[in-house]
Formats: sequence, structure tokens, C-alpha cells
Amino acid sequence: MVSDRQYDYLIVGAGLYGAVFAREMTNRGKRCLVVEKKSHVAGHIYTHETEGIQVHRYGAHIFHTHDKAIWQYINQFTSFNHYVNSPIAIYAGQVYNLPFNMNTFHKLWGVITPREAEAEIARQRQAAGITVPRNLEEQAIDLVGTDLYEKLIKGYTEKQWGRPCKELPASLIKRLPVRFTYDNNYFNDPYQGIPVDGYTAIVQRMLDGIQVRLNVDYLKERDAFTALAKKTVFTGAIDALFDYRFGALAYRSLRFETEVLDMPNYQGNAVVNYTDSQTPYTRILEHKHFAFGTQPKTVISREYSHEWQLGVEPYYPINDAVNAALYQQYAALAAQDASLIVGGRLGEYAYYDMDDVVASALRKVQSETA
Ligand code: UDP
Repeated sequence: MVSDRQYDYLIVGAGLYGAVFAREMTNRGKRCLVVEKKSHVAGHIYTHETEGIQVHRYGAHIFHTHDKAIWQYINQFTSFNHYVNSPIAIYAGQVYNLPFNMNTFHKLWGVITPREAEAEIARQRQAAGITVPRNLEEQAIDLVGTDLYEKLIKGYTEKQWGRPCKELPASLIKRLPVRFTYDNNYFNDPYQGIPVDGYTAIVQRMLDGIQVRLNVDYLKERDAFTALAKKTVFTGAIDALFDYRFGALAYRSLRFETEVLDMPNYQGNAVVNYTDSQTPYTRILEHKHFAFGTQPKTVISREYSHEWQLGVEPYYPINDAVNAALYQQYAALAAQDASLIVGGRLGEYAYYDMDDVVASALRKVQSETA
């Protein structure tokens, strides 16, 4: 009988979504079991210490949110430092500030006032004949003009997504602020920082007192694990859950080449983007700068982007029309099973930031307990 089951929730995946869900349900007296395919918790926000430096094993994660409640929520599990993300871009041996702001416009065109910058962008927009942007290329030119598109967007975006900018949705570039102030803060959100003892510690604290089994590949032992709980919360890729029956969703994957260097400071910034098309990687992370580190050595990661294929780790959903429609088919299938919840960046096939993941998990907890 269903009510005899040992657990209320089997949570597949010990990433941020699974950990928030497990914590909140445990707080509400529910019995939770978390199973995780990897040998560690924290999913893609996993950090580990090397040479005294917290290394972001699956790429740079900077917590930022506009939502005070989410900020307060996450602050229960850690303290944040005052890191403000200000990446730079290198193109043809020149350094440009990001996001696109007056510092960038000044460097490109020598303009000094916002009015001059706006006039230059308007001139370039008009020359390109853009009225209603229909794709990422047109959207980018509309926002910042042709020069900036060619130098700081086109190469980076095509490396990152493996598709021409003309075939990518405009929404991808709308993530980035465009500002007519001299402000290099990448995010508009009022709350931002890096957890002082890394992201893994956040997830470990969330999972405190909750049963977690590592190295469990749920999809290979699905029946045995599903039978343990009244409901299953699956946080992996939704197409994998259904054995790709409608076809595989497209993802971008990443590869990191990480090195310890015997020098205190390699690039002087946590994130340096290489926006030309020849450099094979998209960016280099220097992890210590997320935490103002003063260690004698440094750790860097070159980030390479490539198309996902079966057996490699999915990172980014590709939210074009074809994949969005395919995702809807899977979501409809999932919705038919009242004992199944599918959530998180991979489960919802959404380009979520960490605050979105926390918000989504908390919403699900609300609807489960309403
Ligand atoms: N982007 C760009 N040039 C840059 C940085 C970003 O063209 O130097 C574009 C690119 O299309 C990228 C998108 O902006 O996919 C979003 O960038 P973001 O930094 O938000 O991506 P993430 O950190 O999630 O990979």
C-alpha cells in the first residue's frame, strides 16, 4: 500500500533544487531520501578547495537576486562576501568592460557622455536597418550597435551556443544589462555575493540530518527507488527521465581545463571573456578573485563550450522554438503522473540562475503543502 512506503519523497539529485526541497519538506515533518548520481552533493554549484581556494568545478556561480525573500532564505545557510561581478572582455588585444556600459562605449568610440553613446548606437542601428529585432543578432545590434556586436558579442555567442547569432533567440542577450552609466556591475540585482565558505557548504547545511545516498544512478535502478517513496522529485534532464521517447532535447555542455599556477595573480580578475572566434575557449576563470584571495598560488579554469551528446553532462538548455515545443511534450507527460515532480534547471529545461532555482523549489514546496 502506498501509505506504507518508507519515505514521503524520494529526491533524485542533490543539487540546489533537490536540497531546498528536501530541507523544506523535512522541516515540515516529511521523510525524505536524496539520491545523487555523482560522488558529491551540490550538483553544478559544487565548489572544492584547492591551494586554499574555492574552485567552482562546474563554472562560475555568482549568487544574485532582486528578491529579498530569496536572499534572506539563502543567507540562513551561509554568509556572503561583497564580491561584485565585473567581468572584462578581451578582443584583438584590447580590454573592454562588461556589461555594456559607458566604459565600454568610451573605449570603443571615445565618446564621453551618454548622449554621444546613444547617438552612435542609434546611427549604427539605423545603418543596419533594424526595426523589430527577430533574432539574437538583430537584438544585439538594436541594443548596442554593429561595432560592439562584432567585437564583443558575435564571436563569444557563437562559441557559447555553437549556432549563428541569426538562429538564436533574442532573449539570450536580454540577460545582459546595457547601461548609459559608468557602472561595471554585471547584475542589476540589489543582492549579490559569493558564499564565504563555498557553495558545497550551503548544500551540506541544507541537507543536514537528511539521508543522502551518493553514487546512485536512479535511472538505472528506477523501480527499486521509486517504490521507496510516495512521490519522486526528479531534478535531472526531463528527456532522460522518459528515455528520450519524443527525441532528445538540445543542450550545450561545458568542459573546463583547470590548472594550478605557481603565481599569485594570473589575470587580475575573476572572469575574463575572450570574445573573438579564434580563441577556442569562451572565458578564463581565476577562482581566488571571487573571494579576494591572497594565496601564493592561483587556480584558473579555461571554459570550453560544446554540443551535448548522450553520456556527457548537460549544462544549458537551448530554448529555441523546436526545443521549447519538445519540452512541453515531456512536461505534459510528467504532469500525468501525480506521484512525480520534475524540477530544477534540467528538469524544467529553463535557463535558471540560482535564485530562480531556489524560488522554483520553494514554490513547489508551497503547492505540495497547500
Ligand atoms: N555575451 C556576449 N559577450 C560576452 C558575454 C555574454 O555576447 O562577453 C552574451 C552571450 O550570448 C551569452 C549571453 O550574453 O550567452 C548571456 O551571458 P551570461 O554571462 O549571462 O551567461 P552565463 O554566465 O549564464 O553563461
